[in-house]
Amino acid sequence: MRTYTTSLPLLGSYDVAVIGGGPAGVCAAIAAARGGAKVALAERTGMLGGMATAGLVGPFMTCYDRDGKFPVVGGIFDEIVDRTVAAGGALHPAGIPDTSKYSSHITKYHNHTTPFDSAILQTVLDDMVLEAGIELFLYTQFVDCQCEGETITAAVVATPGGLAAIEAKQFIDCSGNADVAEKAGVPTWIGHEESGVPQPATLFFEIDNIDDEKYLCRGGHKAYLKPEAGCYKVNDQRVFGVIASDVRSVTAGHIEGRKKAIETFTDMRATMPGFENARMTQVASVLGIREGRHIKGRYMLTVKDVCENPYFADAIMTFGYGMDVHSRDGKMKGGFHGESADWYTIPFRCLVPLGCGNLLVAGKTICAESQAAGSFRVMPGCMALGEAAGTAAAISLRLGCQPGDVPITDLQETLKANGAIILDPREQG
Ligand SMILES: Cc1cc2nc3c(=O)[nH]c(=O)nc-3n(C[C@H](O)[C@H](O)[C@H](O)COP(=O)(O)OP(=O)(O)OC[C@H]3O[C@@H](n4cnc5c(N)ncnc54)[C@H](O)[C@@H]3O)c2cc1C
Repeated sequence: MRTYTTSLPLLGSYDVAVIGGGPAGVCAAIAAARGGAKVALAERTGMLGGMATAGLVGPFMTCYDRDGKFPVVGGIFDEIVDRTVAAGGALHPAGIPDTSKYSSHITKYHNHTTPFDSAILQTVLDDMVLEAGIELFLYTQFVDCQCEGETITAAVVATPGGLAAIEAKQFIDCSGNADVAEKAGVPTWIGHEESGVPQPATLFFEIDNIDDEKYLCRGGHKAYLKPEAGCYKVNDQRVFGVIASDVRSVTAGHIEGRKKAIETFTDMRATMPGFENARMTQVASVLGIREGRHIKGRYMLTVKDVCENPYFADAIMTFGYGMDVHSRDGKMKGGFHGESADWYTIPFRCLVPLGCGNLLVAGKTICAESQAAGSFRVMPGCMALGEAAGTAAAISLRLGCQPGDVPITDLQETLKANGAIILDPREQG
């Protein structure tokens, strides 16, 4: 151990600092800024979008109910989709049924996915964040926080110019690994709540020059067709036991992921009809880690909740994707665990961490059983969670209360007025 003491230059003072510019963080920052807050957004890579861009992950998984009859996610997710479609970088999910060629050869829970191009999405997100008046800090990684009691006063960040501080009245942790929550003293756990084992990781890669008709008739490795004919995102190889907060584990996992990507690509070319002339166009720059830390919050969403759809008075979003939990030891390939409800809601309390008053958490790390998180962890779900957190932050600043204590009806009405969908199971026919 070494002790290191230094003074930090201040990047600025804000109402809300959002850490992490992935699907959850972008939506949290935009919602907070549109609600009137002065917002900073710190992202450790050079682009917004998280797994959707740096991770090359796609398509956006379903934003409809389980049976694909009606949309259950709206709000900023809808805007992102519409703008990416308008920019020529996505196909609208309304026109993508589970029987379409965009669902790989999987049909279960794959109704109305959104095929998109990661490069075009990056520029759409840049535009939306800058239009909202957010101060964006790329290449800026949260490393620690300064706290007074249960209040975070500043985030310590590593920038290209060295360590610096961002002061804010409130923080929203969208790091995808609860980095802020953990440093602020919020209790967390990794992976499965009993075994501590996370879902496996995957390094995505993209290929082109594929004969779509031959591939889609015959199956083989799992690959998702992008908006452009013959171009695919490949999600078919696993790296087990990667711990997102352990630098040696992530380094070894990324190297193994690269090797497996090449092996998969070589096997595709050798064995799959339509892939004879395939070219590997890019490998993701960031390893896709499905699961890291989860926070302990005021309520833990359970598998039972996802399956039975109880009424929550503080519901802030609706979701309908199944519990997509990849085998933690590789004995099973992929797999959905149990039948989830046609749709269910998530209570705001899952975003409110224990032990820190001016922090909300959004995205895949909210308080939920690991298997339950297997459902909402996909990108439309994380965007809806981010929008709820950002909206709550803006309301609480206006009312002068802690973000976890906002009047729920204010939050729900504001979300709905902005296009979010919060269904009520008591009204289910
Ligand atoms: C292999 C794999 C396949 C998947 N397949 C699909 C799919 O087909 N469809 C789908 O919809 N979803 C899929 N998902 C799920 C989905 O991509 C993620 O769960 C989702 O992106 C999580 O959103 P998030 O905003 O919580 O986190 P992330 O997308 O991980 O974003 C977190 C952001 O925070 C940044 N960050 C992290 N730490 C720090 C820090 N300390 N300081 C500053 N910035 C930081 C990261 O760089 C990143 O931009 C998949 C995930 C994986 C890993």
